[in-house]
Amino acid sequence: MMDFIPYGKQYIDKKDRRAVKEVLKSPFITQGPKVKEFEDKISEYIGAKYAVAVSNGTAALHLASLAILNPGDKVLTTPNSFVATSNAILYVGAKPVFVDIKDDGNIDLDKCIEILEKDKNIKALYAVHFSGNPVEQEKLSYIKDRFKIAVLEDCAHSIGAEYKGIKAGSCKYSDCSILSFHPVKHLTTGEGGAVTTNDKNIYEKLLILRNHGITKDEKQFLNKEMAYDEKDNLNPWYYEQQFLGYNYRITDMQCALGISQFEKLDTFIKRRRDIALKYDDAFEKEDIVKPLYRYNDNSSYHLYVVRVDFEKLFITKSELFYKMREKNIGLQLHYIPINKQPYYRMLGYGEECTPKMDRYYKEAFSLPMYPPLEREEQEYVINTLKKIVNENKK
Ligand SMILES: *Cc1c(COP(=O)(O)O)cnc(C)c1O
Repeated sequence: MMDFIPYGKQYIDKKDRRAVKEVLKSPFITQGPKVKEFEDKISEYIGAKYAVAVSNGTAALHLASLAILNPGDKVLTTPNSFVATSNAILYVGAKPVFVDIKDDGNIDLDKCIEILEKDKNIKALYAVHFSGNPVEQEKLSYIKDRFKIAVLEDCAHSIGAEYKGIKAGSCKYSDCSILSFHPVKHLTTGEGGAVTTNDKNIYEKLLILRNHGITKDEKQFLNKEMAYDEKDNLNPWYYEQQFLGYNYRITDMQCALGISQFEKLDTFIKRRRDIALKYDDAFEKEDIVKPLYRYNDNSSYHLYVVRVDFEKLFITKSELFYKMREKNIGLQLHYIPINKQPYYRMLGYGEECTPKMDRYYKEAFSLPMYPPLEREEQEYVINTLKKIVNENKK
């Protein structure tokens, strides 16, 4: 039998390992030159003016939320994401409002517009480009123009994705975007994340919040009496805490890995798209297993999601997962509706009208998708899935 095939994993080569080793031999293992170098790579690749690298994607969401939300703000977001997306809204005392998805798993922006027409207390929209497939940028543009709310793009799935020439994360119609460099994502730093923005004020705030709310920039000092001595010398030890910030710094070791991974990013994305094409072909004539959306080269394919109508089978989704696991194939579900999590129910969520999300949860799951997935491994996944489905048709 094949070795275990997970739904996602990283690819680290010799160059990556060498890059990290070099940092270990250098004077700076954190807060050295690699952080800025990594940030420059990110902003250049994505086409946003600024990037701030942080310790993980959730920290990126938290800092972005501190920069663009106020306590009490209502924020439209999707139930179809990792809990971190809406948790960040809660971190800052704001209130998520869950909106149903469309057939492609993305938040329904037309529904968002309907809600915005009626509720003037909605102050922001958090959109996730689910699985790597970007939401409609012209609708983000319309929402920003018409309702003047803050928009955040969660690009944890979608580095390298493009919508009509607009790169995910470039913040053309959003205030900030966030990235994650967790090992299952497109490129990894172990743990890591970033915020991108075109807004200088947001950028400067993010830098300070990443580092305890402390600034060492003389121009920004508020307390001049403590900053200078009686002969007007700047006190060399001086720094100021001006906000309640955090330690969300990323290390030079991680950034060196990230910089090295960047060299492979386009190859990674191409490989993911090839894998997606092959899955699409394999399920083309299937009536029970269907891709979430037809092959789409806008998508950077963090995930490959299929839908199965389990009413047509004798086995449940759970049984399918176990049967695939017995064959050494790891399936995964992205995602359990966030609003139905016990913590969210405790806050009064869970009974929103989200029929598409409810149906999606019954039918959808993710197949193995990662650059080093071998052809034979993918064929094995396809054949095993088809076989189990065919043997259990009603
Ligand atoms: C992975 C992920 C995050 C969180 O990133 P971490 O680096 O794991 O903290 C946030 N949003 C989405 C959609 C993700 O997939």
